[in-house]
Amino acid sequence: MKTTTEIIEKAAKSHNLEKKEVVALLQCDANETQKLFKAADTVRKNFVGDAVQLRGLIEFSNICRQNCLYCGLRRSNKTIERYRLTPVQIVEFAKNAAELGFKTIVLQSGEDAYFDTPTMTKIIKEIKALNVAITLSIGEKTLAQYQAYKKAGADRYLLRIETTDAALYEKMNPGMTLQNRIECLKNLQLAGFEVGTGSLVGLPGQSIESIACDILFFKQINADMIGIGPFIPNEDTPLWCAPDVETERNLELSLKMMAITRLMLPDINIPATTAMETIDPAGRMLALQSGANVVMPNVTQRQYKKQYALYPGKISISDDDSDTPENCRNSVIAKIKSIDRVVSTDFGFRGNNSPEFPHKN
Ligand code: SAH
Ligand code: SF4
Repeated sequence: MKTTTEIIEKAAKSHNLEKKEVVALLQCDANETQKLFKAADTVRKNFVGDAVQLRGLIEFSNICRQNCLYCGLRRSNKTIERYRLTPVQIVEFAKNAAELGFKTIVLQSGEDAYFDTPTMTKIIKEIKALNVAITLSIGEKTLAQYQAYKKAGADRYLLRIETTDAALYEKMNPGMTLQNRIECLKNLQLAGFEVGTGSLVGLPGQSIESIACDILFFKQINADMIGIGPFIPNEDTPLWCAPDVETERNLELSLKMMAITRLMLPDINIPATTAMETIDPAGRMLALQSGANVVMPNVTQRQYKKQYALYPGKISISDDDSDTPENCRNSVIAKIKSIDRVVSTDFGFRGNNSPEFPHKN
């Protein structure tokens, strides 16, 4: 068996590891973890450069037909107040974000049937006219729906696999199957999207081996984006009192998983996720220095942000008037500059951020 240092060197050079090598990296000690983060940071710099991609996130509905055990938006949660932005409001928020300088708008929601294909495609077309790239994160749909969104002008789609452990997946996501999730990712690729996936880290019952399998899965499907988030228990869900959940450990493991993913898929887009910063105020900057190259500031107006409660304590949620999309953007930009990085001015596609906007190929 190779030493951890040898495994890191191999990954940085060949971008390929065996499962047992990934497991060894996920289990490495604090000293070796620093080497792993440094190697991922170097690979990030060499393959995608110092520019950080900013994507403006609009959380447009917290209504969801699914019942994922970990998520505050699950349909059985009667405690949260539900909201749904109108198509006019969504386009208005996107317009504000584009005026602030965002080159990508991310539209995220629960699986809300109100937004049927005609409604969704109309919104996409109107936002596309603002000369921005569009990312969708609206859950499991049919191939025909994915094709319609693509045709309307959407460029990317985020659908986390959450975990590749089928038994755990099906326990965490009642009524859903791992097989269908994989099918959706394949359909998204068929429809021509840049496809993002990723995992939740630290779910009760999730093994290190299964996390290693998740990373090999990202490699196998050649994902274009990978978002990794530490699991944060939400008190309105059945997992609130789940035993053995330590958010600090989940953050550490998420950062390691993210760094290994950068070594394995050197040229993809990897966000420093909001959940990381929720656990540690420095979380997103740590992530940007350990392999990440994307940040997704929230551009949803304050009153709705609070209600989009996937997990508690989501950062940049305050009651005062300072919590505007503009201030969120400016504070993220200041932090990016403080770690000697720059803000990207292009559309941020994979593989040198296609100058031939709007479509890579
Ligand atoms: N409904 C869509 C998009 C919104 S949910 C979907 O499920 O794909 C976006 C992500 O939030 C999920 O993929 C999940 O990984 C994350 N999430 C949900 N609950 C969470 C929790 N308690 N802690 C951390 N992340 C969570
Ligand atoms: Fe709905 Fe997504 Fe939350 Fe699952 S994770 S309950 S699909 S919003």
